[in-house]
Amino acid sequence: NRKFVLAERPVGVPTDSTLRLETEGVPVPAAGQMLLRNEFLSLDPYMRGRMSDAPSYAAPVEVGEVMIGGTVAQVISSDVAGFEEGDWVVAFGGWQDYALSDGTGVINMGKSPENPSWALGVFGMPGLTAWAGLTKIGQPKAGETLVVAGASGPVGATVGQIGKILGLRVVGIAGGPEKCRHVVETLGFDDCIDYKADGFPEALSNAAPDGIDIYFENVGGAVFDAVLPLLNPSARIPVCGLISQYNATSLPDGPDRMNLLLGAILRKRLTVRGFIVFDDFGQYYPEFSAQMGDWVAQGLIQYREEVIVGLEQAPSAFVGLLQGEAFGKRVIKLND
Ligand code: NDP
Repeated sequence: NRKFVLAERPVGVPTDSTLRLETEGVPVPAAGQMLLRNEFLSLDPYMRGRMSDAPSYAAPVEVGEVMIGGTVAQVISSDVAGFEEGDWVVAFGGWQDYALSDGTGVINMGKSPENPSWALGVFGMPGLTAWAGLTKIGQPKAGETLVVAGASGPVGATVGQIGKILGLRVVGIAGGPEKCRHVVETLGFDDCIDYKADGFPEALSNAAPDGIDIYFENVGGAVFDAVLPLLNPSARIPVCGLISQYNATSLPDGPDRMNLLLGAILRKRLTVRGFIVFDDFGQYYPEFSAQMGDWVAQGLIQYREEVIVGLEQAPSAFVGLLQGEAFGKRVIKLND
């Protein structure tokens, strides 16, 4: 069993010494457990938070422990009711070849799911995040303008496409012309603005001539600075993630804009609400799952995945994810 354990807590960008590859025997399941062989490992921005012991909504990974991660796995042997050898499952199997489980939180996909790894993306945690954040907090109404940051990633891409289904004007924000082209031409957003290009705030303003009614926040930083003045009265802001800040070691340079933000919240009666997907919206998973299944089957939602082969690639692929290298949902296929 190959496994990546947390070797030390990173300061800033994770380095080669953040994670350590160890090898041990295949774990032996006890009574009431099953043995899972991980086939796909999801790479997600939240993992940076778990490497840190700063205050968070979830406990950090301890130094020396295997790194946490969502996986798609096959059941090798099982003493758990409802799971048998050969079943494909979604689990939190971690950054390793094999994992033991008592079935808690594990979803059985049966013997031959069509695209098993999609359960880590459009049909899984990022998909539910997009659907719940937009519909439950965003409260969309047809004809409104939705702006989505991180628009080419698994969450943002899904948010914007659901927005189109619901009759919104949808403007994405993404890094670089290639991602922006994909967001408009393949995902069907009305427009997409490159936040790395000169004149980004003006371009965003031009793309949202009627202002912004919903801003789906995935990134924070300079992107939010450009959005704030464009928000309409009673705008809703699902605060999903702040990926531009995850490797930051200090607050950005001043001036202090806290009262600018609070003033906007007050005058414009903004609704700004953070959420943690499974804690806040886990109960909607069956409803989401049925709805997303229909949308994907009807071709209304497109999904882009980036599969990287080899568990040993995971650390560098993860650092790249935090730096904007990923184009679509990044998963590791553990073996060739
Ligand atoms: P993504 O694959 O979209 O994340 C990577 C993307 O973020 C990159 O491709 C890059 O896109 C963008 N990015 C990276 N650095 C910056 C930066 N400095 N400024 C602006 N954009 C940047 O991830 P997901 O779709 O999986 O997740 C999106 C967000 O949702 C994350 O913030 C994540 O933490 C959050 N999330 C929150 C959940 C919750 O329960 N609250 C659950 C799941 C996700 P580009 O090249 O366009 O810059």
